[in-house]
Amino acid sequence: MTVIVRFAPSPTGYLHVGGHRTALYNYLFARKHGGRFILRIEDTDQSRYVEGAVENLVKSLRAMGLDWDAGPDKEDEKGPYYQSRRLQIYNKEILRLLSSGKAYRCFCSSERLAELRERQIAAGEAPGYDGHCRHLDPREAEKRAQKEAHVIRMRVPDEGAMTFHDEIRGEVTVEFSRVDDQVLLKSDGFPTYHFANVVDDHYMGVTHVIRGEEWLPSLPKHLLLYEYLGWEAPVFAHLPLLLNPDKSKLSKRQGDVAVEDYLAKGYLPQALNNFLALLGWNPGDDREIFSMDKLIELFSLDRVNKAGAVFNTEKLDWMNQQY
Ligand code: GLU
Ligand code: ZN
Repeated sequence: MTVIVRFAPSPTGYLHVGGHRTALYNYLFARKHGGRFILRIEDTDQSRYVEGAVENLVKSLRAMGLDWDAGPDKEDEKGPYYQSRRLQIYNKEILRLLSSGKAYRCFCSSERLAELRERQIAAGEAPGYDGHCRHLDPREAEKRAQKEAHVIRMRVPDEGAMTFHDEIRGEVTVEFSRVDDQVLLKSDGFPTYHFANVVDDHYMGVTHVIRGEEWLPSLPKHLLLYEYLGWEAPVFAHLPLLLNPDKSKLSKRQGDVAVEDYLAKGYLPQALNNFLALLGWNPGDDREIFSMDKLIELFSLDRVNKAGAVFNTEKLDWMNQQY
């Protein structure tokens, strides 16, 4: 089996050091196994589009020495691939979910959803969709869909639980009662992250999804979608968070978080890669300085830590002097 991994940033402006570490781990894993490393731009949120963001991202990845490959279905075009150019694929797959009853059209107005949310919060409940449109007659819904704005949601079982395996976290169990009927297709015709991500990972033949821990709670939705669509799910590995020295989630307020800022200050790409590789992964002994080739040789998912890793700039300074 050829390993296929991807880095799938949303174009929000710049390459975050945490994002770069995710890209780097994917890259190391692909190169180690003679696989492919795909770059996919997740630009389905039109309201968050930032001018120049993709160019910036690509520039930082290149400067850091991370080169990407073509997907197995696109030998002649190595990307980056843009989700906004793949709407036909999502439309085709959403129709399959609608006809099998695994997804349904929801006509709730934003006012209704906002009121619902307020009511739930006031009652001390976790906010979420109440299933209002779940039982609409499908034929009736198709008719309304011709002229009424609506979204398409996935049908999540009311009860039961799902246990899944994460390469880093181990076994995780989530109860369906805590999983919302996620919107898959928005009223503007664009897919949400959850839907596009699953469809693309399948179409691009992704074998291992290596990404930030913040996506772990979404995994039950993704696994349900694989099941509903009749696809085999990839292996998942969720990486620990990067932390500020005070153990809070790494944030702009406590220092630079853009790769480009570190490069502009004169840090060497190799030192920055070395530093980030060791944030959350250990090589198995106490060596601290590696060439890229050595990192590729040594990298493995089973030595990625579970606990968050502190972004310590003194360490980075020291490493920068070693090259
Ligand atoms: N677009 C998501 C992000 O920016 C990708 C998450 C994933 O890799 O599935 O973090
Ligand atoms: Zn509804």
